[in-house]
Amino acid sequence: MSTPTGTRSVGAAATVSRLRTAHTTGRTRPTAWRKAQLRALRRLLVEQEDVFVSALRADLGKSAVEAYVTEIGFTIKEIDHTLRRLDRWLRPRRVPVPLSLQPARARTVREPLGTVLVISPWNYPLQLALAPLVGALAAGNCVVVKPSELAPATSAALAHWLPRVLDPAAVAVVEGGVPETTDLLEQRFDHIFYTGNGTVGRVVMTAAARHLTPVTLELGGKSPAVVEPGADLATAARRIAWGKFMNAGQTCVAPDYVLAVGDAASGIESHLTAAIREMYGDDPAASADYGRVVDERHFDRLTALLADGRTVTGGGHDRANRYIAPTVLADVDPGSGVMREEIFGPILPIVRVPDLDAAIAFITARDKPLALYAFTASGRSKRRLVAETSSGALAFGVPNAHLTVPGLPFGGVGESGLGGYHGRHSLDTFSHTKSVLDKPLPADTLRVAYPPFTAGKARLLRRLT
Ligand code: NAD
Repeated sequence: MSTPTGTRSVGAAATVSRLRTAHTTGRTRPTAWRKAQLRALRRLLVEQEDVFVSALRADLGKSAVEAYVTEIGFTIKEIDHTLRRLDRWLRPRRVPVPLSLQPARARTVREPLGTVLVISPWNYPLQLALAPLVGALAAGNCVVVKPSELAPATSAALAHWLPRVLDPAAVAVVEGGVPETTDLLEQRFDHIFYTGNGTVGRVVMTAAARHLTPVTLELGGKSPAVVEPGADLATAARRIAWGKFMNAGQTCVAPDYVLAVGDAASGIESHLTAAIREMYGDDPAASADYGRVVDERHFDRLTALLADGRTVTGGGHDRANRYIAPTVLADVDPGSGVMREEIFGPILPIVRVPDLDAAIAFITARDKPLALYAFTASGRSKRRLVAETSSGALAFGVPNAHLTVPGLPFGGVGESGLGGYHGRHSLDTFSHTKSVLDKPLPADTLRVAYPPFTAGKARLLRRLT
């Protein structure tokens, strides 16, 4: 952090220039190189699982199981899915040519963008650095990874290991916070992939605009969980509690609040209380499976929200350990602080609405969420939510899990983000799809299109075009 500005920005420029040069040599283009990188990354995750589990525990108090399922194992699955299909995804695609241009052949070819920047946040500091990296490498790019300074142990582990196992000419890790990222953002990249909050998303997009660099913005927001009275409330409560309180609520797609329709409100309260006790025991502070808030700033921000409703369960906190109990608040005013901004912590407000019309009106009056969840037994309600709301994703019956379906693009819309990734969609994000048209030169069948345009030619051209 103490590196002088001049030296630091020279360092950023040198790193990017080195990778750009490597890209021009074509070393990252062969499919064999790409697969070798993905296999090396996979091996690293398997062989150094303990290192990453310890780092995640140090940064976020993550349990080993959660660290594996949501970060290490998740990334391994993304690699396997990509490795299995990469040859197919990279195959050029034939495209039909209109009669007027024949004989000719047309196809699309994917090409790497060049040198790309991945900026990742602290909440899933391994997954959100490596899943984009998988896509960027599969597409044949050189990559600068900038992990979050708020997860320093994971950042250090990535900075140590990635250059050792991946091609160091093509992959660099730059650690640091705002000054280091600002220096990187001054450089010209061929794509910037940013995961984090919308305020910094705007900083990233502004910097990218100077070089006309395309961006992917994976942002957050308030993801509602609509609960209807006819649903199985006990199961709904367990799933909402699972999605909300994993990683102590610090999950971009976690249900931010419950929108309880009609009678569902009172039922869901008691079921949530029971579900939390079932998962984390009478004293969640003693549970090895319950995480901690990332730092004091977020702890203070979150504890200030605890008074914004009637405490159904939880409410306890301990600043020295950055612990906040899994908390459910009821009778929450939609205008209160806890409902104004993304909570991003273990506090779950319940807002009552009289019917589905009111729930839909509540959702559509606000920013488009990253995810919308609904727990309902009604097919009609599902169809209405699909047709009448907009969100990055819509999931019925389970929160958070849609991002583990590699065929589904993961991303937001409007305030929740721009662009998407995972699986083949990552390849789309990190490649340019180039159009290739090949028309043989001999026998000039295009003569009819050349001036001078006689009346006969004009008639023919109008028919052909
Ligand atoms: P963060 O503070 O770690 O910031 C993210 C990255 O931005 C870091 O690498 C950081 O160094 C960099 N950064 C911070 N300030 C900067 C600045 N002024 N200029 C340039 N770079 C800067 O993480 P965060 O933003 O607190 O993350 C939480 C947010 O991210 C939440 O809103 C959450 O919903 C969202 N999120 C979204 C996804 C998704 O996939 N859509 C995933 C996780 C988190």
